[in-house]
Amino acid sequence: RDLVSPEPEGDERAIEAALRPRRLDEFIGQGRVREQLSLVLESALRRNRPPDHVLMSGGPGLGKTTLAMIIAAELGAPLRMTSGPALERAGDLAAILSTLTEGEVLFIDEIHRMSRPAEEMLYLAMEDFRVDIVVGKGPGATSIPLDIAPFTLVGATTRAGLLPAPLRDRFGFTAHMDFYEVAELELVLRRSARLLSVELPDDSALEIARRSRGTPRIANRLLRRVRDFAEVRAEGVVTREIAAAALNLYEVDAEGLDRLDRAVLDALLRKFGGGPVGLSTLAVAVGEEPETVEVVAEPFLVRQGLLARTPRGRVATASAWAHLGLTPPPDSFG
Ligand code: ADP
Repeated sequence: RDLVSPEPEGDERAIEAALRPRRLDEFIGQGRVREQLSLVLESALRRNRPPDHVLMSGGPGLGKTTLAMIIAAELGAPLRMTSGPALERAGDLAAILSTLTEGEVLFIDEIHRMSRPAEEMLYLAMEDFRVDIVVGKGPGATSIPLDIAPFTLVGATTRAGLLPAPLRDRFGFTAHMDFYEVAELELVLRRSARLLSVELPDDSALEIARRSRGTPRIANRLLRRVRDFAEVRAEGVVTREIAAAALNLYEVDAEGLDRLDRAVLDALLRKFGGGPVGLSTLAVAVGEEPETVEVVAEPFLVRQGLLARTPRGRVATASAWAHLGLTPPPDSFG
């Protein structure tokens, strides 16, 4: 399932960096988020003060890191990047916070995976631009308050629901990133094709966009694979037929479902008769962590109208049966 995994793979980061939009007006789609953000930035620039802290929630590959970089660029501010799992001890965070310069943008990816002590330190830093450094252990421990430079925190999470309320409440603005429309992905593809010097006819862009799982990262990846295929098999000409053939070869289906998506659907239909079935049972059936199924596969299946989350569990819709070419039982949902 590598090809359509929304996580970056291998040496992909360098290529991604080259394809990243640098300014807000180059950022495609997410119209509402872009407009809200541009207001926040504009007013901060006018007041000559760092803007409120920004939380971005949305699945992998939808542009959270890109937006964090754009925020810093638009503010003309330096950017420091880290991630929740890297902040295991409060000291890890203190080391970063105490060396921030005025107006710096601090990006914390996967902020929901930060440790509890780091999280508590962050509350104070976000609110009062202060950290309490604890010196010593046990009854003799004292805490020394330390002022830090006013900064802007940009947090990214694939699971906003997991953030403790006190943390969520300290963000002035939350950007909800959703899957992209096919037309928006076509624009992403045309822009990337231009940067990669690939000639991409409109119908080929559409074919790739439709199979990109609503995700720019996947669109860019499929474009590169289609280009490789075209270079070897068709003298570099990316016709729609070549695009479709390449994507079939890589097992991306016509709706962009990847192997995990299909495995989840397949288990739901064949093993559990279309549901309802609980998330963890379903995850065991496909040999994945519940979090992977919940964050990666389900949102897209829900968006495609193939799966529904109900209070009693996950349920397949009528289209799911059709998609796998199966006949639904007479009493099935949907
Ligand atoms: P996330 O941090 O949400 O996982 P990234 O910001 O790393 O996602 O984006 C992944 C790739 O997709 C980047 O290479 C970026 O160029 C591309 N991308 C994401 N959003 C957009 C967009 N709105 N317009 C153009 N390219 C985008």
